[in-house]
Amino acid sequence: MSNIAFDTWIEQHMFNDKLSKRQRLAAAMFCAKLETDAHPKLALASANLLDSNSIELVQLTNAIQLARTAAHRAIKNAYAPYSNFHVGASIITQSLNVFGGCNVENASYGLTICAERNAVGAAVAAADTDVLFVLVHTNTPAPVWPCGACRQVLMEFGSQAICIGIDAQGTEAWLPLELLLPNSFNSESLTQ
Ligand SMILES: [Zn+2]
Repeated sequence: MSNIAFDTWIEQHMFNDKLSKRQRLAAAMFCAKLETDAHPKLALASANLLDSNSIELVQLTNAIQLARTAAHRAIKNAYAPYSNFHVGASIITQSLNVFGGCNVENASYGLTICAERNAVGAAVAAADTDVLFVLVHTNTPAPVWPCGACRQVLMEFGSQAICIGIDAQGTEAWLPLELLLPNSFNSESLTQ
């Protein structure tokens, strides 16, 4: 994915007063993850935003750590006897609550539900559905992004969310959901 796409997304989110402070900080955290690829002006702005919101940054960082633990715990409980592809997911909502889920397969293969959608279901059951981050933990050599179906379901509750893929070694990759599912179908599409 091009640096232009990253820069544009960050600019549209980091300085957007219509978004919550946590959403803007999440965009700044994503910018900080881009190493030298990020536009120098954006990198400086993100550093300033994070520096001037140090308490909120600690809260977000702690929530992400809790979510890593939740995804790690969930993958151990994944029910995947057919594919042996174990997935643990967790969601951080804007209230900084964490909800976990694992993939649940079935002998009737088509009934399988992904970890991400089970985590969404847990958040919906708790009436806490404003998704800020989505973590997907897999036992793979490189991080894996949500499947197409899960991207669509996640978009329903977190169009501005950031996905964090975590591989078997704990290496992470960050990417906004909007860049994983551009021009998505959503509730506004129904009223056009
Ligand atoms: Zn999926």
